[in-house]
Amino acid sequence: MTASIDSFGALGLSEPLLAALADVGYESPSAIQAACIPPLLAGHDLLGEAQTGTGKTAAFALPALQRLDLALRDPQVLVLTPTRELAIQVAEAFQRYARKLPGFQVLPVYGGQGMVAQLRQLQRGAHVVVGTPGRVMDHINRKTLRLDTLQTLVLDEADEMLRMGFVDDVDWILEHTPAERQVVLFSATMAEPIRRIARRHMRKPQEIRIQARTATVAATVQKYCQVAAPHKLDALTRVLETEESLDAALIFVRTKTATVEIADKLEARGYAVAALSGDLTQVLRERVIDQLKQGRLDLIVATDVAARGLDVPRISHVINYDVPYDTEAYVHRIGRTGRAGRSGTAILFVTPREMRLLGTIERATRQKIEPMALPSRAAVADRRVAQFREQVEQVITGEDLAFFREVVRSLVSREDANLEEIAAALAFLAQRERPLQLPPAKGPDIADAARSMRPAPARSPSRAPAAKLAEGGALQRYRIDVGRQHQASPKDIVGAIANETGLSGRNIGRIDLFDDYSTVELPAQLPAEILELLRRTRVRQRPLGLRPLTPAEAEAAVKAKPAGRAKRAPAGKPGKAGARKPAAKKAGRRGGG
Ligand code: AMP
Repeated sequence: MTASIDSFGALGLSEPLLAALADVGYESPSAIQAACIPPLLAGHDLLGEAQTGTGKTAAFALPALQRLDLALRDPQVLVLTPTRELAIQVAEAFQRYARKLPGFQVLPVYGGQGMVAQLRQLQRGAHVVVGTPGRVMDHINRKTLRLDTLQTLVLDEADEMLRMGFVDDVDWILEHTPAERQVVLFSATMAEPIRRIARRHMRKPQEIRIQARTATVAATVQKYCQVAAPHKLDALTRVLETEESLDAALIFVRTKTATVEIADKLEARGYAVAALSGDLTQVLRERVIDQLKQGRLDLIVATDVAARGLDVPRISHVINYDVPYDTEAYVHRIGRTGRAGRSGTAILFVTPREMRLLGTIERATRQKIEPMALPSRAAVADRRVAQFREQVEQVITGEDLAFFREVVRSLVSREDANLEEIAAALAFLAQRERPLQLPPAKGPDIADAARSMRPAPARSPSRAPAAKLAEGGALQRYRIDVGRQHQASPKDIVGAIANETGLSGRNIGRIDLFDDYSTVELPAQLPAEILELLRRTRVRQRPLGLRPLTPAEAEAAVKAKPAGRAKRAPAGKPGKAGARKPAAKKAGRRGGG
């Protein structure tokens, strides 16, 4: 994107949407947004190659919102997502952009969520429905989701949906939509199965792909750090504390709101920091930059727009707190350091879901971005001690201490303490603001959590999903739709579950076989992707349809006499459904982000 469009207004978005965007602090459209919004507003089908982190959600949500007839309370937009987690995120994004559209309703529907509540909400009416293919199919079949008024169907992360085996479901849903609807497909890759869907169901789709132009980057050391979103601020402060030769740093975030929020938090932690966004007048902007040049400020938290053209040789570090939308933005950002012949370091925070974008940037810049471990608490403490020592040395060599020596001498005589004790007390006083000993962590440390997080999305679905699960966490009873009459044996069931998900035997508890169903103990709160996987996994040719037992079912199952029982209490201990304490809680295994 070179002919970059600088404002959402220029894309033809309506006032209420522009007002909402201003509210959430978006300054300018990302490349994918600039390219997709006009054709989508015009009603075209669209095939977009875009990954998480490029701003694709807003790219399809904004035009969809603009085309809604709010007076009509029937579903006009249906978004299919591979996972429940993404369904919720997308629904939240719609809500955020629709905050100035009175009466707007969006409803996420996904497996594992109470059917009754969903039905009630569907009856009340929703303009936009976001869901996983399985549950959406259920609702279409039950006629609780009617698609006759559907205008737009969005397939989000289509490649993921196919990878998870939803291809038939997606086809089926597309066949049940009106002929005149708009189809929008976003996918990180445009592999053949995706093209097949496009050929079968789309009409002259516009193809949008943001070309990652190859670019050379200055002699900047580039590193990335995998961090879950909620840990970013903590990660940032650790990096700021432990990076060698940090002079001044430019911290990039996505929104104006975030510039202020993060600057405030850093200020509260004692940093000389300012926020820089497009909201600042030219005069104020220049004042901030001057202060940075003169060393009165060390950190600036900025958006891409605000940092354009910024040239301050002291900037030793660029920290990409939020990933940039595209390679161009990345190259531009890191070009703010390593200026005037100095060396610079660029550190990129990536959440597990954004790992793909990392690969794209590496390919486009033809440079490897090295992984970096998040500094541990011990590293932070060591660094503080080292700095303290340095300060002490500097004072000894650089200051006139005659008066203070006198004070210490009087302390020694009056307190009847030796010099070491006095010095220790003074060190204690000096470190109060910035303790040299960090208080013990509550729960697993974020550095460990980051280490155990799943890397880039695995190519093969097998075994990967379970990587997130803590071994030996609490178990819960689930229901599966195969039982004795289907000739299913506990061995079949365990085998299928273990093979599909990579769950180990320790994570699969007791199995009770009934005539036409069975119950199985698996970790409580299984991640959405595993639930989806196990819904579809087959035993004796029947899909398991796995779902948590409702309390009533749990009670009924206790009363009913199992047709056969298999005890597979993990680690040899009897398992009471959902009531076991975690046996061996491993630090930070539930990364999430
Ligand atoms: P997505 O690629 O849709 O998952 O979006 C990634 C993140 O970027 C989300 O947190 C959005 O809220 C944010 N975002 C999307 N578009 C913009 C924009 N134009 N300006 C600032 N942030 C944005």
